[in-house]
Amino acid sequence: MSERFTGNFTQQEPIPEAGIEAALTVLRHGRLHRYNTAPGEIAETALLEQEFAQAMGADYCLAMASGGQTLATALRALEVKPGEKVLTNAFTLAPVPGAIASLGAVPAYVGVTEALTIDLDDLEVKVGDPSVRVLLLSHMRGHICDMDRLMAICDAAGVKVIEDCAHTMGARWKGTLSGRHGVFGCYSTQTYKHMNSGEGGLLISDDDEAMARAIILSGSYMLYGRHLAAPPAEVFERVKYTTPNVSARMDNLRAAILRPQVKALAQQCEAWNARYKVVEDGLRDTPGLTVIERPEAEHYVGSSIQFLLLDWPERAIGAVLERCAARGVELKWFGGAEPVAFTSRYDSWRYAPVEPMPATDRILKGIMDMRLPLTFSVEDCALIARIIRAEVAAVWQAEGAPQEI
Ligand SMILES: *Cc1c(COP(=O)(O)O)cnc(C)c1O
Repeated sequence: MSERFTGNFTQQEPIPEAGIEAALTVLRHGRLHRYNTAPGEIAETALLEQEFAQAMGADYCLAMASGGQTLATALRALEVKPGEKVLTNAFTLAPVPGAIASLGAVPAYVGVTEALTIDLDDLEVKVGDPSVRVLLLSHMRGHICDMDRLMAICDAAGVKVIEDCAHTMGARWKGTLSGRHGVFGCYSTQTYKHMNSGEGGLLISDDDEAMARAIILSGSYMLYGRHLAAPPAEVFERVKYTTPNVSARMDNLRAAILRPQVKALAQQCEAWNARYKVVEDGLRDTPGLTVIERPEAEHYVGSSIQFLLLDWPERAIGAVLERCAARGVELKWFGGAEPVAFTSRYDSWRYAPVEPMPATDRILKGIMDMRLPLTFSVEDCALIARIIRAEVAAVWQAEGAPQEI
């Protein structure tokens, strides 16, 4: 009998007891809205912002309703205009181009490399367009590009960078935390990310005026004085009459759930990496399968793992997906022609124009993706790797590879 995995790829850990207790306190007093405080009380939301800013080493932090809202708010705070072209990754998730489209702006895609990071040669060409002012950089699935080179390219072209850190909360490039290179760092606290409040987002920045705009945009009315990780009042004086309220606040219940998770983040990142390493080691040297080698400068958080079945025919990839699924291992494929569940491709977002990107298409066609929730043990991860390895090898052999593929 072949081994079978019975774990659930979408089951996260429970909320820490301290978060449950704090949430019950909020529910019992009923003051869920962040500006609904008793005399002398400091809202959970304001405390979360202060603690997350400190954890990231940022001057300012804003808690929001979702990760997608942090992206759209960052774009609005940089005064991106309708019709404006905004650069972003071709390999990303739908809320990223969606945030750009929500302003009536137009996503323009930059290619992906075999390292699954943004193609910096392609970026260098595309920042040459004088109408481009902003790059919304997605550290998709936690892969961080050479941030020194990326910032040099963007700085030289006068292009501002917003970092989508939905998969890199706690990760670093050469010691600098992801989210600390660009004007804004954007995080999601949706259930499948590194902290879990169901829905939610955190936005960080050191830029006075951009953050003052973001806070007004989030729906602070004129209560920004109650924030603990906000620019000084005089900065708001400069922007408060000209910045619309777009209402995308976080509430005290979610903030209460998240505060203990900020403290646990480093430890959680280590737990992910222990699991990631076991799967990575188990997959290395499988014929036909390309492991994504991580650069030494990148301190990633392995909350998911990707590998490539590069230049495999679709039929063979389909066979691997089916055979793994039959043994309880759920792989996601970014190469499918039709968008499925969370995976979709730049050319399935038909509200924006696309140019042919053959080099990117080749990579996307081969990307296999799998979550590694912390409810999996290290032994589970070893079993998962054995199953993938065996099924990839079986299909590879049946296909008569490598000669005929
Ligand atoms: C989840 C995610 C987002 C958006 O976060 P939500 O909180 O779901 O709005 C943005 N970018 C990437 C890459 C994501 O995975």
